[in-house]
Amino acid sequence: MRRFSAFAIAREATRYHSGWERHWRAPTPKKKYDVIIVGAGGHGLATAWHLGKHCGITNVAVIEKGWLGGGNTGRNTTIIRSNYLQDPSAAIYEKSRSLYETMSQDLNYNVMFSPRGVIMLAQTHHEVRGYQRTAHANALQGVTTEWINPARVKELCPIMNIEGPRYPVLGGLWQARGGTARHDAVAWGYARACSDMGMDIIQQCEVKGVRTQDGKVVGVETTKGAIDCDKLGMVVAGHASTLAEMAGFRLPMESVALQALVSEPIKPCMDIVVMANTVHGYLSQSDKGEMVIGGGTDGFNNYTQRGSFHHVEETVRALNETFPILSRLKMLRQWGGIVDVTGDRSPILSKTPVEGVFVNCGWGTGGFKAIPGSGFAMAELMAKGASPLTDEFSMYRFREGKFIDESVAAGVAH
Ligand SMILES: Cc1cc2nc3c(=O)[nH]c(=O)nc-3n(C[C@H](O)[C@H](O)[C@H](O)COP(=O)(O)OP(=O)(O)OC[C@H]3O[C@@H](n4cnc5c(N)ncnc54)[C@H](O)[C@@H]3O)c2cc1C
Repeated sequence: MRRFSAFAIAREATRYHSGWERHWRAPTPKKKYDVIIVGAGGHGLATAWHLGKHCGITNVAVIEKGWLGGGNTGRNTTIIRSNYLQDPSAAIYEKSRSLYETMSQDLNYNVMFSPRGVIMLAQTHHEVRGYQRTAHANALQGVTTEWINPARVKELCPIMNIEGPRYPVLGGLWQARGGTARHDAVAWGYARACSDMGMDIIQQCEVKGVRTQDGKVVGVETTKGAIDCDKLGMVVAGHASTLAEMAGFRLPMESVALQALVSEPIKPCMDIVVMANTVHGYLSQSDKGEMVIGGGTDGFNNYTQRGSFHHVEETVRALNETFPILSRLKMLRQWGGIVDVTGDRSPILSKTPVEGVFVNCGWGTGGFKAIPGSGFAMAELMAKGASPLTDEFSMYRFREGKFIDESVAAGVAH
């Protein structure tokens, strides 16, 4: 695949950009692969890329029922941070955040990583205590975060009203190297690099069944026929329990819609990301000028991949007090994605009761930031049978009572 560079762009500019190749091939499935990954979201594609790049396994197919990146990866609000409370979480999220720093160079694809800084606002005394505790935990984990006072919050985000009558801003947890990246570009960059390594990305191909023999996986049934494999990675977010059922086991996970919306574009007015967990909303400004706004999950399990009006109203109403500027904006679009939520709000990267089947799910409302780290760890787990980054995230931790509780530290875990 031809590399992107300033020279290549200049050359193409002189010939109407007619020399660019397709980013990835559209192959017919082979009869057999060493590894099949189900789900061409960020986590599935990153797993495939790390399998090729660091484990030397390139006879890989990534099978996607829709279009690549069309699940949660292309629907999220792109917040990247690693200020989690528990050590195993900090380890994998910080690995991931650090991989985002070099992702554009590693993939030779501009993912527009923007480490503009993320504040998690404290608007109650409980949050002050909680975030100060997280700042201390982060210091011990080697994750750079800082507890900041209201004046500093106002300095970083002048459009904020820090003296709201119900929820004044009491401070915040600031991660200066947190930020955002372009979600589609992350999926496209990995897909292009995987295809370039000879891997097959098979879109419009739904996995309908998992074939096993003597407790070991031997392949999958798909809408494009049966495909054999030695190892199978299930990386399908909100559909993980459906896939697990096909393989004959259950996952401790619930699927629920999470919604987001964007406003009409306005001039640049905010150059950081703000999360306001008490009033329940979070906000950043896209390069086009739209305010990108995220809300909460639906209060009931469902697979409806779309937005609903009451969420728009709830979220905007919640944010209005802290961001009065929003009250004059028109909202342009809303949408939803099916997120995969576990009881302790931490992911599952695990072997399963079926030999050769591995599962990566449970990233819930906050897995975009984890894509490169999760791919790195999952590839290691699939290739070598273990990874220090996944040890604590086994699906069996719920049976053993070894929870990694992030529900308090990440009340809105985006
Ligand atoms: C509105 C919203 C806002 C969010 N905001 C943030 C945020 O700001 N920061 C953050 O870190 N995270 C955020 N998230 C969460 C984040 O988007 C997800 O955790 C992450 O994208 C999950 O990636 P994935 O690759 O596991 O799943 P997906 O991107 O959902 O990919 C899974 C793929 O599997 C495919 N699939 C499913 N079943 C089958 C089958 N049977 N056969 C073949 N293919 C199948 C699907 O079509 C899908 O493309 C948000 C999510 C939503 C919905």
